[in-house]
Amino acid sequence: MVNLLGLDRAALTRYFAGLGETPYRARILMRWVYKRGVTDFAAMTDFSKALRARLAAEAELRAPEVADRQCSADGTVKWSMRTDAGDLVETVLIPDGGRNTLCISSQAGCALDCAFCATGKQGFNGNLSPAEIGGQVWLAAQELASRGDARGITNVVFMGMGEPLLNFDATTTVANLLIDDYAYGISKRRVTVSTAGVVPRIRELARHADCALAVSLHAPDDALRNELVPLNRRYPLAELLDACGEYLSGVGERRSVTMEYALIKGWNDSLEHARALAKLLRPLRAKINLIPFNPFPDSGFERPDDDVLRAFQTSLMNAGYTATLRTTRGADIAAACGQLVGAVRDRTNRSARLARIRAREVA
Ligand code: SAH
Repeated sequence: MVNLLGLDRAALTRYFAGLGETPYRARILMRWVYKRGVTDFAAMTDFSKALRARLAAEAELRAPEVADRQCSADGTVKWSMRTDAGDLVETVLIPDGGRNTLCISSQAGCALDCAFCATGKQGFNGNLSPAEIGGQVWLAAQELASRGDARGITNVVFMGMGEPLLNFDATTTVANLLIDDYAYGISKRRVTVSTAGVVPRIRELARHADCALAVSLHAPDDALRNELVPLNRRYPLAELLDACGEYLSGVGERRSVTMEYALIKGWNDSLEHARALAKLLRPLRAKINLIPFNPFPDSGFERPDDDVLRAFQTSLMNAGYTATLRTTRGADIAAACGQLVGAVRDRTNRSARLARIRAREVA
């Protein structure tokens, strides 16, 4: 059974070509699935009976099973979805004024182990398929439609569990689908892939998907970034910023890269850090998105006080940057940045190792 959910137009066209059908079938299928929410081939009456029967026999359009759904006091919704491998991954819908932003997961857990992120602490079990990634969007869109919310999903960010650029093919397939007018037709500036800095894939991104890029920077120098984002030891800042420049020349126009910077008390939140950050980013067209650190059990890190957050932001604004301070949403249901954990079978044994260390600390 091939799961066609989440495939972009190019992949669907290849699939139909394999059946000896015209490329036009791909667009018809996309309209049924993404405009009308229909996943039952039998209902797709503009396909011949023979084609419908064949699709029903060898293909499916199956979203992940929803294992849990929680709603925050602020309107944020968090779903826990079961993957085919049996892991639980999380998806967050953040309604905000005129926008419905969906934060989706690209992997079960994460292999990168950033110091301050809860997802990394639980280890890693593998990549999600296009159906598992795109299925998160399909399910959330179904919920909005059933609520009578005519705007639908306006923004999608690959900022849930996992490193999207280490699941490159599935990520770019779904990104292409999201911006396709036959599917959701979301503006390419409102589909954002966020990366901890997988340099070779940043260099390739523009050639595979015309979407927005966010980079999890978190530190203005290599020594500090090596500690917070271990991937920096492999791809240091100079290479990372050079790759961002290559992405920008690939997408053309007046686009910019969003630099995410989680502010962590006593680690990276001084005015000196702000000045170094402003200097570092000077050669690049960059916006800065400050994220106050979101605590999770045993993280060992703290959120800076509000006046420190403001001073950091003001310093960047005075240096001429667009610097936004991300509002914390859904913290009461552990749906904020860095708090997504789900439940994954941990192939890296990282969670067991951590538990042993903690047990020793307590003893
Ligand atoms: N792996 C990708 C996608 C995750 S995006 C990436 O690193 O970009 C999630 C964002 O939240 C990243 O910028 C991440 O660094 C940040 N984050 C992780 N843990 C956090 C925490 N506890 N508080 C605030 N932000 C956090």
